[in-house]
Amino acid sequence: MSEAPVNLFDFDHDGLRDFFSARGEKPYRAKQLMQWLYQRNQRDFAQMSDMSKSMRSWLAEHACCTLPRVQQELLSKDGTCKWLFELHDGNVIETVFIPEKNRGTLCVSSQVGCALDCSFCATGRQGFNRNLSVSEIIAQVWLAGNLLSGNPDTPNAKVTNIVMMGMGEPLLNFSNLVPALSLMMDDRAYGLSKRRVTVSTSGVVPAMDRLTQSIDCSLALSLHAPNNKLRDELVPINKKYPIEQVMEACWRYVQGERKKRVLFEYVMLDGVNDQPAQARELVRLLRDFPGKVNLIPFNPFPQSGYRRSSHAAVARFTKLVTDGGILTLTRTTRGDDIDAACGQLAGDITDKSKRYIRFTEPRFGEQFQ
Ligand code: SAH
Ligand code: SF4
Repeated sequence: MSEAPVNLFDFDHDGLRDFFSARGEKPYRAKQLMQWLYQRNQRDFAQMSDMSKSMRSWLAEHACCTLPRVQQELLSKDGTCKWLFELHDGNVIETVFIPEKNRGTLCVSSQVGCALDCSFCATGRQGFNRNLSVSEIIAQVWLAGNLLSGNPDTPNAKVTNIVMMGMGEPLLNFSNLVPALSLMMDDRAYGLSKRRVTVSTSGVVPAMDRLTQSIDCSLALSLHAPNNKLRDELVPINKKYPIEQVMEACWRYVQGERKKRVLFEYVMLDGVNDQPAQARELVRLLRDFPGKVNLIPFNPFPQSGYRRSSHAAVARFTKLVTDGGILTLTRTTRGDDIDAACGQLAGDITDKSKRYIRFTEPRFGEQFQ
């Protein structure tokens, strides 16, 4: 019986180099293949004209470049685009593209569901199913780029930034996350700078340290509360890794590089964490740290039990934190009408079918299967 073909989307540069050298091929094959896959968007070995004919047919026999199936695409009024990708086992993940004036941010998933059960998050509510493979992570970037460029409704849309802020806790899928990040930043693949690739974590301290040691990228920390009592309630992993330990890991991350910053995410929950006393407590916590605060309006979902903070509460909170000397940004909510906003990603399509009106499947079916 012959071996199952190897999915080449599962390898970063070093993985591909090993794949080729195990077969007696020169290491530069890895670079050639990466350029075809990620820069020329070519998955058909037959078209890889700088490889010998025998090499191409050997690849066709032993390797493949398989992508998830594009199940749905939704385009919001504000230009935000959300895709549902169906994995080989039938699981569905979500990926969101958010266009802004000078950049286009892709929000990428790292797991099917999430085990960490933050009280305000739809993905957490769904529970954990499994980790995504390297290919399932990087395929989100590949497919988004190709679907955007092939779509007349999204002219000039281009992925310039990637945030690991989709479904799942990226640091709990460490061994697949790192090669995927490497492909995002490798000049032979997507070549994005480390400032444009951000891992967001709820604070898995040992994995934060491993990340710091393994790869240089940007870091966002989902803080959401200025003290342990409240954070224990909102972000349950805080009981294992309390704020002090998380802050120490943040210090180790910024150490040694003057320009390094951490982005602290803080979802604004009405009457829960948006009070002036909490803003002052946040200032005391972050005052001496090289970071910024990103206030995120809470995005409601059925039975969440929370409400979004009022504009007045957000404005008051922003002023107190800014006056405390901390740079504070408020994230605008995007893609509300297609449930593409932060924390609404649940990969559940059953009750949303009426909204899938924009595109039909055949457009993808032929293109990418
Ligand atoms: N698991 C990682 C990354 C995915 S969540 C993390 O928690 O950081 C990405 C961001 O969306 C996190 O800051 C998360 O706290 C936030 N988020 C989750 N649910 C939300 C909701 N309902 N409204 C607004 N932001 C939410
Ligand atoms: Fe998981 Fe992040 Fe949602 Fe928390 S906020 S449940 S860590 S995806």
